[in-house]
Amino acid sequence: MFTIPKIEYDYSALEPHIDAQTMEIHHTKHHQAYCDNANKALAGTEWEGKTTHEILTNLDKIPEDIRAAVQNNVGGVCNHEFFWLIMSPNGGGAPKGSLASEIDKAFGNFENFQAKFSAAALSRFGSGWSWLVINGNGELEVISTPNQNSPLSLGMKRVLGLDVWEHAYYLKYQNRRPDYVKAWWNVVNWDQAEEWFAKGGV
Ligand code: MN
Repeated sequence: MFTIPKIEYDYSALEPHIDAQTMEIHHTKHHQAYCDNANKALAGTEWEGKTTHEILTNLDKIPEDIRAAVQNNVGGVCNHEFFWLIMSPNGGGAPKGSLASEIDKAFGNFENFQAKFSAAALSRFGSGWSWLVINGNGELEVISTPNQNSPLSLGMKRVLGLDVWEHAYYLKYQNRRPDYVKAWWNVVNWDQAEEWFAKGGV
């Protein structure tokens, strides 16, 4: 059974960049709903009890009648578990170490990478995510996915990800997604991204 994880910082800890009310509703209502609906969709199937990774890397094997519900809700569980960890009250700045040098190699420099990632977040029409992933060729790549679709289902592993659903920013930023994206860079947990990058992504 999927359940919402404990977040290791207070809902208000990412203020002023992400407000406490948004954090609380996002975690206890939206993430909870993905858990509930994922559990409901998988109940009584052979996929009940499998991990999000096992399920999302095998979407084509999920029975067709529940595949959309699984993609949306197990995807939602997996994406949000990632999202709480990739942010930190001590975040922001730029990566160091091997991730920094690989970003330079792949995108020229950190500023170019940031611009590309932000553009992916801003050009995603409607709901979705922008990601820094390790693709099937082992290269860093910026992508965007619609809805709760996971890079895992595309044969990719995640290093960084940003939720651009309106529920992630509307209370504070209303229609101003660019302001939210800009503010989000101040809470990026680069230590976590480094750790995941060193493992080949998650
Ligand atoms: Mn969300």
